[in-house]
Amino acid sequence: MSDKGQYEVLLIGAGPSGSSAAALLAEHGHKVLLIEREKFPRYHIGESLLPFTYEPLKRLGLIERMRASAFIKKHSVQFVSTTGKASQPFYFNTRYDDDVAQTWQVLRSEFDQMLLDHARDKGANVVEETKVIELLRDGDRVTGVRVRQPDGTEAEHRAPITLDCSGKDSFAASRNRWRVPDPELNKVAVWAYYKGAKRDKGIDEGTTTVAFLPKKGWFWYIPLHDDQVSVGVVAEGKYLTRDGVRSPKDIFHREVTQNKWIEEYLAPGKSTGDYYVTNEYSFHSRHCGCEGLLLLGDAFCFLDPVFSSGLMLALKSGVMAADAVHAAIQADDFSPAQFEGYATTLRVSIENMRKLVYAFYHPNFTFRDLIGKHPDLAGDITDCLSGDVNKDFSRLWTAVEEFAPIPDKLPYGMPKAPGKAMA
Ligand SMILES: Cc1cc2nc3c(=O)[nH]c(=O)nc-3n(C[C@H](O)[C@H](O)[C@H](O)COP(=O)(O)OP(=O)(O)OC[C@H]3O[C@@H](n4cnc5c(N)ncnc54)[C@H](O)[C@@H]3O)c2cc1C
Repeated sequence: MSDKGQYEVLLIGAGPSGSSAAALLAEHGHKVLLIEREKFPRYHIGESLLPFTYEPLKRLGLIERMRASAFIKKHSVQFVSTTGKASQPFYFNTRYDDDVAQTWQVLRSEFDQMLLDHARDKGANVVEETKVIELLRDGDRVTGVRVRQPDGTEAEHRAPITLDCSGKDSFAASRNRWRVPDPELNKVAVWAYYKGAKRDKGIDEGTTTVAFLPKKGWFWYIPLHDDQVSVGVVAEGKYLTRDGVRSPKDIFHREVTQNKWIEEYLAPGKSTGDYYVTNEYSFHSRHCGCEGLLLLGDAFCFLDPVFSSGLMLALKSGVMAADAVHAAIQADDFSPAQFEGYATTLRVSIENMRKLVYAFYHPNFTFRDLIGKHPDLAGDITDCLSGDVNKDFSRLWTAVEEFAPIPDKLPYGMPKAPGKAMA
């Protein structure tokens, strides 16, 4: 069965990148089909927003809804040393206006549902429990998708452009063999949820805490609403599985005893019983797409979550892709050249964040030493960590290099030109 091209845009996946792009394209008046394999609300990890997520949320018209939501307000971030000593929280309002300075800790089932509903309200056609199983092609050009529907039957949808917003599964990059792991960022994460765990009061209730472990491992501690806390540990697999400990639950509970602050804050709480694990997770796609195909969010690049950049990048890519695709529809030109600007801007965002992530994991690097030596760069560090990632940070990278090597810019991300051999 085929829909004979009734849509102008197909989107694979209704996470933050897919729903935001679908909402804005529908708002432009385009015929949009958003295809999601799960039934929402569905669970997803990734709960802490960065201050500069304000901009895409504002563009989507969702700030008032966020303000009226139950999501815990996040004003700051703090770091806890391996000895369990907490730093003074860094408050975003010391650098930004109130709008940007206060962000949120979100329960993804609710946040993603809000974004999906918004796309629907704007006019996107949404199908859930429908899995994309194949990209349809005409030579080098992607012409649509084949899906498996809830009743098990297959169908084809065609459109001049398909947006891959499938998250870390990176549907198109995996099938095109564009997926390149970032070898230095090959970490493992193990996490759980607690009810009744300790949280600070007032403006500090929603602080994100990053608590350090030996060998550059770290915990996140993210207070959510309904008295829940998301808490997880990230480190090298070899460190986490030392002494033959393999089960996520055992790894998690052993690491909790390695940081006194985490141990103390979790002590009054109770685990909800589920333990999650993911590994080998940082990668880049060689290309951001090809004729008729564009990659967004995690489907384009997944970066280690230490600085909580994933949602900001997913929403930013959703907004930028919607604008680029709108321009392509108006020009009736879906050639790779249309998406070079999108790719360049997004890669700059990713590369800046990636440089800081590399520094973070280097044994010689600490933010304290960097700021101690270069106090004038504290603002640049804050901007990058807050998600203002398309600034010129060249002075910062020169200073970071005094402590840790800066990774070379990856030659990835441009759209694949027709007929060009795979890089
Ligand atoms: C351990 C960990 C901690 C993290 N912590 C944070 C954090 O604190 N803050 C932060 O900002 N980010 C964090 N992230 C990253 C964040 O989760 C992602 O960056 C974000 O979810 C990306 O959004 P997306 O829309 O690109 O993809 P997703 O949110 O993954 O959405 C993709 C959607 O596509 C659907 N899909 C996939 N394949 C198909 C298919 N074939 N057919 C149809 N539908 C399909 C999926 O069901 C899903 O709903 C973390 C990630 C990890 C792994």
